[in-house]
Amino acid sequence: MGGAKTDIKLIDENGLRFDGRKPDELRPIRIEANVLKRADGSAYLEWGGNKVIAAVYGPRECHPRHMQDPLRAVVQAKYNMASFSVSDRKRPGPDRRSQEISKIISEAFEHVIFTHLFPRTSIDVYMEVLQADAGTRCAALTAASVALADAGIPMRDLVSSCAAGKVQDTIVLDLRKEEDNFGEADMPLGIVPRTGEIVLLQMDGDLTLEEFNKTMSLATEACHKIYELQKDALRRKYGVTDDEDVQESVDAVAESVPDRQEEAEEAFEDEQEES
Ligand code: ADP
Repeated sequence: MGGAKTDIKLIDENGLRFDGRKPDELRPIRIEANVLKRADGSAYLEWGGNKVIAAVYGPRECHPRHMQDPLRAVVQAKYNMASFSVSDRKRPGPDRRSQEISKIISEAFEHVIFTHLFPRTSIDVYMEVLQADAGTRCAALTAASVALADAGIPMRDLVSSCAAGKVQDTIVLDLRKEEDNFGEADMPLGIVPRTGEIVLLQMDGDLTLEEFNKTMSLATEACHKIYELQKDALRRKYGVTDDEDVQESVDAVAESVPDRQEEAEEAFEDEQEES
């Protein structure tokens, strides 16, 4: 990113991209919910050349135990890239990049999951990238969000994610590998579509303020489109046809939240007094 040079014409004379897409066009996305038998919730996602599987376990006993929080569930996201997911073999196991992505995804989900409903537990979110073609953190976050809903974890909303950036002086949506490698900037974004809150925002490269605003609005608009695909995947699995049904169950959970929060705090205080 930002510096690497290429002879590949990433934007042609008609303003079209390397793969024929318009600057504001997403790669094709396909999402399927509930694909694994043993996980509490799961999803499979194909997004251009990316293939990601997400599995959710929990709320369950928190390991390691010292990570337990007496007031809420901890969200432990683990992003991993298979060694065969990229053109050169990737060295297996955790590295700095996957630890960083796991951390930002855990933080994004902590903002939407009603963690205080499940004190002392852990909600484990595994994301395995089977094939990578740039934008895998957005793909993993998007898939994991569907897997969390599939597991029935109470959340304020799904999280939807997409990147936008700058390639050969053009602001483009959803960069693929060549654009990511030789482009000037890449900005992954994750939002809570119902409220517009930002739960993930990173930037690799440089943008002027004007370019930043344009990149933000492209990515935000795409997140809303992806939100529809996520809900559609859940509807296809669970046969919910009416948005109101989903809304009603979200509202019912939201109403029960303040009481449970107090309950958890009181229990914690009692315990402190006893010890
Ligand atoms: P993201 O996948 O979220 O865009 P990066 O910008 O860090 O994250 O990576 C861009 C792309 O570079 C990845 O999607 C993948 O195709 C490739 N890549 C990342 N890490 C490696 C690696 N260790 N070996 C080969 N390719 C990699």
